[in-house]
Amino acid sequence: MFLAVGLTLILMSCRSSDDFNQANLVSSAENNPQVELVELLDREHSIDVIEIPSEVYAGDSFRVMISSSGGLLGSLKVFGNSTPLLLVDSDVLSSVVAVPIGQRSGTVALEFVVTGINWQISKVMQLEILERPVRVDRIYRTDEMVRISTDGSSFVEEVDLREQQTKTYSTRQYQSKFMRVPVAGVISTFFGDMRAYEDGPPRNPHSGVDFAAPKGTLVSAAAAGYVIFSAMMPVRGKSVVIDHGSGVFSGYHHLSKVYLAGGSWINAGGYLGEVGSTGYSTGPHLHWEVLVYGTPTDPIQWLEPGLSLALSQ
Ligand SMILES: [Zn+2]
Repeated sequence: MFLAVGLTLILMSCRSSDDFNQANLVSSAENNPQVELVELLDREHSIDVIEIPSEVYAGDSFRVMISSSGGLLGSLKVFGNSTPLLLVDSDVLSSVVAVPIGQRSGTVALEFVVTGINWQISKVMQLEILERPVRVDRIYRTDEMVRISTDGSSFVEEVDLREQQTKTYSTRQYQSKFMRVPVAGVISTFFGDMRAYEDGPPRNPHSGVDFAAPKGTLVSAAAAGYVIFSAMMPVRGKSVVIDHGSGVFSGYHHLSKVYLAGGSWINAGGYLGEVGSTGYSTGPHLHWEVLVYGTPTDPIQWLEPGLSLALSQ
């Protein structure tokens, strides 16, 4: 018990150091008789990176994979968030990470922390963030859109609802190799495009991809998962949100009809509703989102030949 407490304190002080780069547990606790034991313990443990990109665009997502002999749990700290590293194979931990669309270009630090039985180590890697080209769409709002913009509560409620939707997640592993295109339609707005309303300035980047399609066109699940939300949202209108595992969610919005209740399981390609124009919308289209632990990412990146995440295929 005493050893465990001492170990925790030393690790905590090490991790607060800026230049803490490898599993080096010495500097901050010199002359402490427990340190030698910690050093010995930690010579036995290391974090080896199997997969990590060297550069990635803001708004994109990527997978990291590390191996650490005996590692049972882990986390990855980056962009001010900590996401879990899930054990996906013996000694192998993995996580899907989303780069926020507003992330500035430059170098960021990724801090991996791995915990085994009575030990914990960390390692810091660097990642280059590239600036994403941005387009601006000018939109002329309908009366209903102006009402939603000015009622003072819709956008606030929407933010709360979105936080609730992705706050908890299933621990199952994301299994799809690639996602499927969820509707037969034409892309009318890309992820990250800025919107300018009437003659106003560009505002928030677009959080998904829009497919223009006639009202009533069938919408299908991009990957298998649990329907964790099936109801009206103040801005996104009639919506279905699916939890695919590993922190990956997809959202289908502005629907005219939904076919499934919350809690249902849906297979990849299963029909979940019909295209509509409910909520904050100029006309019939599907607004499709892919989120990683609540951060919107570019859905197009998840389609073949994009991000391949499944280990089993
Ligand atoms: Zn949209």
